[in-house]
Amino acid sequence: MQQNIQLYNTLSRKKEEFVPLVPNQLGLYVCGPTVYGEAHLGHARPAITFDLVFRYFKHLGFKVRYVRNITDVGHLSDDVAETGDDKIAKKAKLEQLEPMEVVHKYTESYHESMRALNVLSPSIEPRATGHIIEQLEMIRDIVNKGYGYEANGNVYFDVLKYNQDHNYGKLSGRKVEDLFENTRQLEGQGEKKNSYDFALWKKAAPDHIMRWPSEFSDGFPGWHMECSAMSMKYLGKKFDIHGGGMDLVFPHHEAEIAQSVSANGHDAAQYWMHNNMITIGGQKMGKSLGNFINLEEFFAGSHELLEKAYSPMTIRFFILQAHYRGTIDFSNEALQAAEKGYQRLMKGLETLDKLSASKEDTTSFDITAHKQKCYDALNDDFNSPILMAHLFEAVKVINSIMDGKLTANQQTIDGLNNLFNTFVVEVLGLKNEEEAVSESDDKAASLIELLGNMRIEAKANKDWATADKIRNDLSNLGVTIKDTKEGFEWEIN
Ligand code: ZN
Repeated sequence: MQQNIQLYNTLSRKKEEFVPLVPNQLGLYVCGPTVYGEAHLGHARPAITFDLVFRYFKHLGFKVRYVRNITDVGHLSDDVAETGDDKIAKKAKLEQLEPMEVVHKYTESYHESMRALNVLSPSIEPRATGHIIEQLEMIRDIVNKGYGYEANGNVYFDVLKYNQDHNYGKLSGRKVEDLFENTRQLEGQGEKKNSYDFALWKKAAPDHIMRWPSEFSDGFPGWHMECSAMSMKYLGKKFDIHGGGMDLVFPHHEAEIAQSVSANGHDAAQYWMHNNMITIGGQKMGKSLGNFINLEEFFAGSHELLEKAYSPMTIRFFILQAHYRGTIDFSNEALQAAEKGYQRLMKGLETLDKLSASKEDTTSFDITAHKQKCYDALNDDFNSPILMAHLFEAVKVINSIMDGKLTANQQTIDGLNNLFNTFVVEVLGLKNEEEAVSESDDKAASLIELLGNMRIEAKANKDWATADKIRNDLSNLGVTIKDTKEGFEWEIN
């Protein structure tokens, strides 16, 4: 069924009808992590927000190309002033590793956490260091068109020149005059025409490891370059949606727009979507504030601020329970409420499996209308909390059928199954964690039983060598077998 999607476009500051550039196709670009530390909640929120967008469009039958990058060079510790060390290089020094070892380690860790959160892998995950050639091409293009200039081996974007022809600040709502007042006197500013000009290419200091040759200097690209160059390479000069966290609106996304417009003469993305931030106990998350909890610590409950462990699905539920443009405050109480909510939804899914149909249907539950309400919630700027409220209404009906207060015919039961599979499993991406564990446990148990029975047979045939081998080999794997009157018992140590 054709769904009419309205989404909030940061660029126009209002909800707009989504019209794809090509019918039934979606080009989606989302800014991914800078991989110099463990994944935390600040990574989970955009990943889950745009996973919902990805899943929903796929469910609607769109052919989606979802590009989410890995930043592995060029992101400096002060990303507004563009000073300080490269985040990756700094961590490499600290851990006495090659920068690419840091990148590899934290990319793996990020992927692991994303898999646990049931975040689907994007279609393409390009890395900045793998696209230096493309970035240099675009930098040359910008310089040739008069919007970039070289100074001392560095290349800067000429914000004032650009603003004469276009509108710098249209995404963030900032004005160039205000920028001028806000930019402090900074190191390296002397060679810039204006303090707010940002770097397209930076000359590497002699001891800087991450460097590439170019006609400007041996250096590395400015942080904003990679997203403009890689989105253009994989999605074209024009694509549908660009997403990211609200903290990226300025300067990162503003700079991306300026770069694309300079090179191509027009905007790259039609719609800009931004997820809001996460606070912990009302405070901004920060390493210096001692409230910085990474995802593995949430899953294991191994941070002093956590009363217990919170499973990946609890975290996922918690994030989806709020609208993506609203703030989320993490607290133990709120997480425990989310855990209950998640379990209630999973219980509904489980109960659904056990329902038997009656001839008479007393639910007066209009599945078709209810399903459309769920679509309407998503069509209204991906309103997942409203969607969840509709799903909880359905849980009530399921429970009443189970308790015998209502009866349902096969058609209603099938409809409820379809509703849950579509919205809970496919679109919200929530899954039963216990089930996933017990399934593999079941398999292991069957295999142990099989070996135990083979041992009994061996004993009956007086094949003591085989019987002992099975017992010893299992013991080496941490499984103890004990003989009993009935046969045998086993336990995993
Ligand atoms: Zn980006």
